Amino acid sequence: MRNLLNTKVIWTIFLLFLVLTSGCQGIPKNEKSIRIAVATFSHETCTFCPKPTTIEDWEYYGPPTRDIIETDRGYIGGFRAMCEEYGGVSPEGILSPRGARGGSSGSWITKEAFEKYAGGIVNDLEKLGPFDGVFLALHGAMAVTGIPKPEAELVRRVRNVVGDIPIVVTLDLHANEDHELSDAADAVFITKRYPHYDTYLQGERAARVLIQTIRGDYKPVMATRKPGVITPSVYQGTGVSPAMEIMERARRWECQHPGVYVSVAFGFAYADVPDVGATVMVVANDDQGLADRIADDMSDYIWRVREVFAGKKLPKTQEGVALAIAAAKVGQTPVVIADHSDRTGGSIHILEELILQGAKNFCIATLRDEKAIDEIRAKANIGEEISVDVGGWTDKYAGNPVRIDGRVEFLGEYGRRGTMIALLFGENNRVILTPQLTQVTTPDFFDRLGIDVKNLDIVVLKSRVHFRRGFHETGLAGAIFEVDAPGWGPADLTTLPYKNIPKDIYPIYKKD
Ligand SMILES: [Zn+2]
Repeated sequence: MRNLLNTKVIWTIFLLFLVLTSGCQGIPKNEKSIRIAVATFSHETCTFCPKPTTIEDWEYYGPPTRDIIETDRGYIGGFRAMCEEYGGVSPEGILSPRGARGGSSGSWITKEAFEKYAGGIVNDLEKLGPFDGVFLALHGAMAVTGIPKPEAELVRRVRNVVGDIPIVVTLDLHANEDHELSDAADAVFITKRYPHYDTYLQGERAARVLIQTIRGDYKPVMATRKPGVITPSVYQGTGVSPAMEIMERARRWECQHPGVYVSVAFGFAYADVPDVGATVMVVANDDQGLADRIADDMSDYIWRVREVFAGKKLPKTQEGVALAIAAAKVGQTPVVIADHSDRTGGSIHILEELILQGAKNFCIATLRDEKAIDEIRAKANIGEEISVDVGGWTDKYAGNPVRIDGRVEFLGEYGRRGTMIALLFGENNRVILTPQLTQVTTPDFFDRLGIDVKNLDIVVLKSRVHFRRGFHETGLAGAIFEVDAPGWGPADLTTLPYKNIPKDIYPIYKKD
């Protein structure tokens, strides 16, 4: 009896050992853990903006640590979560640049910067390999001097060192891409929402397809189409037509065919590049015919709705500001003005017009002026009066500096955004100065500055659609006006001096 008990105990321990070492990993025992390289290199380049993007314009370039993977809450975060869900998969960080300063206010990326960061990814992959798969979290609207399609070039270089293993890519909805990228990568996934709520979800999808492909359970094939349409960002919000119907159509195809992923990038019109404009990318499991059929349908649909998509009209500065003041007078406060066309952050047209039309209780959030910040810091403390010129110099459309006689209400560091200053002037008006283009998307931005946004009559944001996250979808804004002030991000794309885009693209060259 005692011997039998001992045998039972030994067997239990042995079985427990087996479970702990293999069963709970989610993959059959004896199968080695899957190693996936994870890298990111992301930029949305406004090629019309004045200042080139250089090596220094990425905030972080640390060692190839796990922190890329463990701290991310977007594409890479979703990718990591799905790897954990599958088990037996180890995502490993590759040396990558992160945190592009000033968002998309930077112009052409220098070849030197691209070579450094793309080279860093490739070298690290070589050094740390071999891997079973590669995940690249890119943006898709990067523009590099002398390299026409940089994301495709990066993936080709990665392919050269990793060989025939699956490479999956995630992209932003503003990507400008074509078949060169899908020829080089095995599968591409693009955010469907603008504001981009689904970055995490697309990361999860990328991981699922990559892991299934490595295990031989999925054979990705892709179909890519260019409908030949470009649209300004301000029309691309997925809460309005026809952007909403385009994404609904993509989701419908996905529902009808499990295992199929239908992506549409609306594109980034402020990059003068050959692959500009909308892109359809479909991933299917070993069914090229189905991928082609869906891609054709999506592309044809985008072409059919092009006139509505590209042809809306927005009020210009004077009219837009008058509408906002009128809405504030009837109590639709806070009224939000989206100063959508300002791509460098220092445009003063709406500020000037608000002053001219006698608006009160308004706040400009924000105006980029690093020079004025330095001047104010040298001359005044919090609570002191100052007379200073602000804005109007960051690009040729930014206007002329505006003289503000006001009081320093806030002066201090604002996390990673740097030094910020709030000037109070006139009848409870404010201008918030920032060292870089700052796109305010949620009202908690104002908390640190001690400003109660709910009590403002008018708030001016340098944003196109992302502000809807915190001001529209929450019901905070009483009224919203997208105002087409002069700037490098106009709603009327026909005014831009394009040189490199296709000669048959709608609405620039092809009119109907
Ligand atoms: Zn975007």
